[in-house]
Amino acid sequence: MSELLNVLLIEDSEDDALLVIRKLKQAKFTLNWQRVQTETDLTHSLKTSKWDVIIADYQLPGFDAPTALKVVQQLKIDTPFIVISGTIGEAAAVEMMRTGAQDYLMKDNLTRLPEAIKRELRDVQVRKERLQANIRLKQHLTAFEAAIDGIAILQSGTFIYSNHSYLQLFGFDYADELAGKSWRCLYSPEMVQRFESEVFPQLGIELAWQGEAIATRKNGSTFVQEISLTLAEDGVMVAVCRDISKRKQDEVHLKQLNAELLRSNQELGQFAYVASHDLQEPLRKILSFTELLASRYQGQLDEQADRYIGYITDGATRMQGLISDLLSYSRVGQVDLKVQETNLESILEQVKTDLETIITNSNAIISNDDLPIVTADPTQLRQLLQNLLSNAIKYCQVDIPQVHVRASQADEVWTISVQDNGIGIDPQFSDRIFIIFQRLHHRDEYSGTGIGLAICKKIVERHGGQIWVDSQEGQGSTFSFTLPISCEIEARPLSINLRG
Ligand code: ADP
Repeated sequence: MSELLNVLLIEDSEDDALLVIRKLKQAKFTLNWQRVQTETDLTHSLKTSKWDVIIADYQLPGFDAPTALKVVQQLKIDTPFIVISGTIGEAAAVEMMRTGAQDYLMKDNLTRLPEAIKRELRDVQVRKERLQANIRLKQHLTAFEAAIDGIAILQSGTFIYSNHSYLQLFGFDYADELAGKSWRCLYSPEMVQRFESEVFPQLGIELAWQGEAIATRKNGSTFVQEISLTLAEDGVMVAVCRDISKRKQDEVHLKQLNAELLRSNQELGQFAYVASHDLQEPLRKILSFTELLASRYQGQLDEQADRYIGYITDGATRMQGLISDLLSYSRVGQVDLKVQETNLESILEQVKTDLETIITNSNAIISNDDLPIVTADPTQLRQLLQNLLSNAIKYCQVDIPQVHVRASQADEVWTISVQDNGIGIDPQFSDRIFIIFQRLHHRDEYSGTGIGLAICKKIVERHGGQIWVDSQEGQGSTFSFTLPISCEIEARPLSINLRG
């Protein structure tokens, strides 16, 4: 069955109307039709229903086809308007066509009517599609004009379109200034040569290219441009670009800052190393002469003098300890990392041997899961584990310290954890304890200087990992650190972090 055709007939004669209808039915149209005879009825019909075609008698009593056409046009309805008449003269017919009717036919020869309708329906469809395409084109143009990036379309190397951002980028005020010009006017001869010898051959193969170029503005100044080129059909090329001069400058600035930071960190590390090393000597002198003073004059001076000598010895000894810790800390950053495949299990065994006396004296039980081969500096890894294990034993609250070492792997990193059943740490101090010389207890409670975890942090960070603690006061602690599985260690800035 054919599609339903909605026909509005403007006709005073019912017979003539039926004649038209019969003709259309013969042509196998399935019809929905209505007949009107006055302007009011026509207006009502147009407003209330949708018609595929309007077929109008030229002359009706008190109404005619030209007036009907005006009504249709005023309502802005795009429906084919075909005039049928027994009397229409050539001049009137031409006038009807001129004012917008699609066709006219003589009543006594309606043979052409079905074909005329089919043709008009096709034309309506084409007009609709064209309208849709125009709407889409306008939307795309609006989007192009609103784009922050510069967009240009070139045909055989010359500009046929450039959006507002593109013009702004190159310092032009109007699209006309670029239209019809070659892309070469925006680049130096060297850049043109590079495009022609390197970029376009690749663009020809891959149909798209992205990269950076030095572009020249209308006033001759230049800027670094990030540009993407896409080759469409028929020699059409789309260029999208943006100014990245500022980003480039920032990158250079950042590199300079990093180099500066690296240098000053190295200097600081060296300073700490040299200072702590050199301070040892005068301190040793103070200590030995104070000892001499004490041994020679103990009991010969008054009690207060003896006490003062005691204070000096005590202070100097503590200072010696601090300086030696500082030296160990800066040494960790000064030595080159000798990263290699390292068996964590054998490192743990070595650490247990190193700590044998403490382990035996404290009855500590050290256990572990299977431990992996990791990529790390074995000496530093040993020091790291030693610090964590000795703390786990030292900060105990029960008779038998229990320490367990485990490792897990996820997202290209190993996480190694040392868990104890000790005194635990209030979470508010979980960052502070990794800062050099920061302690949570007085020396009388637990011995130490507060350097161990700072050294651990430095070792872990030099390996590209992180260290942290999970703990609650009175509930034991778990110190964990990560090591990248494929450890490409870079020369990290050597730093001495006195404030964390
Ligand atoms: P030190 O042990 O010489 O004080 P560290 O840098 O090794 O220095 O530790 C800093 C502080 O962190 C310690 O003073 C202690 O308060 C806390 N701490 C470290 N390890 C543990 C642990 N396993 N359990 C509880 N507290 C700990």
